[in-house]
Amino acid sequence: MRPDILPQLVNGPEGDPAVYANFKYERRAILFDMGDLHLMSARSLLKLSHVFVSHAHVDHFIGFDQVLRLHLGRSKTLDLYGPPGFSDHVEAKLRGYSWNLVENYPHDFRLCVFEVGEGPLQAASFSCRERFSRTPLASLEPLSENPVILDEPGLRVSAILLEHDIPCLAYALEEKQHINVDKVRLEALGLRVGPWIRLLKEAVMNGEPESSQIRVLASGEDGAEREMSLGALREEILRVSRGQKIAYVTDAAFTDGNVEGIVGLARNADILFCEAAFSEEDRIRADERRHLTAHQAGWIARRAEARRLVPFHFSPKYHGRLEVLYEEASRAFEREVGS
Ligand SMILES: [Zn+2]
Repeated sequence: MRPDILPQLVNGPEGDPAVYANFKYERRAILFDMGDLHLMSARSLLKLSHVFVSHAHVDHFIGFDQVLRLHLGRSKTLDLYGPPGFSDHVEAKLRGYSWNLVENYPHDFRLCVFEVGEGPLQAASFSCRERFSRTPLASLEPLSENPVILDEPGLRVSAILLEHDIPCLAYALEEKQHINVDKVRLEALGLRVGPWIRLLKEAVMNGEPESSQIRVLASGEDGAEREMSLGALREEILRVSRGQKIAYVTDAAFTDGNVEGIVGLARNADILFCEAAFSEEDRIRADERRHLTAHQAGWIARRAEARRLVPFHFSPKYHGRLEVLYEEASRAFEREVGS
């Protein structure tokens, strides 16, 4: 499978947690956690549609200000998800600045914040033109009733609550089906890729009829457009397979409840980003700080039958000898781990 969603650690395994998942055929990206984001370009951050925050510890949330600053003056809604109490954290961040004059901005930037967990849960919007005052929104159902927190035609995001002294969220993003374009067939038909590929995929995911006409782009310098039926395009150039699954797990104590939850959430993930803060040699410290060791991360990934494990959130004490953590995770996972 050639993935359409390309997730990567923003700050490597040692820096603040943040995974940026770029959508190859869309002007869109999703972020898991918002630690320090200064390495990200403005262009990349402006593609964000949704941000899923595990918890509001500073190393997971300090990038909020950069995202806010970049989006001011733009016409956009950004959805943020976080644990119970998260809307208060966002509101407190916003209250830290003066917001006179913004009500006249020609474009409105709006944050929609959804708390995820067990009730009572809050949801609220904060709009630039309203000086980021809080407006209540309909809240999500508790996770025990519905673990799916975002459901779109093409993808879904599920969450579980982890115990990390405070509630902390782990997330899984799944494409409902994976739709690949056969480039050889595409060229043989005299077509070339363009934004129409995304529209075609959306039409398939929305279950539109085979007779629907799709505007396609011809190859060649003039790049003329013509129409083809959805049915013909599906038959000729699309290959549909199981969707891609990306799981993001951080800041979890090694408890039976957490392990069972993570194994279920990350089952058969194509990529599992899993914290591995300490080595087994520091197991006691890992337990005290409510973090996983590299061995535990590898063992959980193997039990979940994840295809790839990317360990991260390494403690600074291993700087210069990261192989200790990579080798330990690899041994427990019984295959190479990625970076
Ligand atoms: Zn952390």
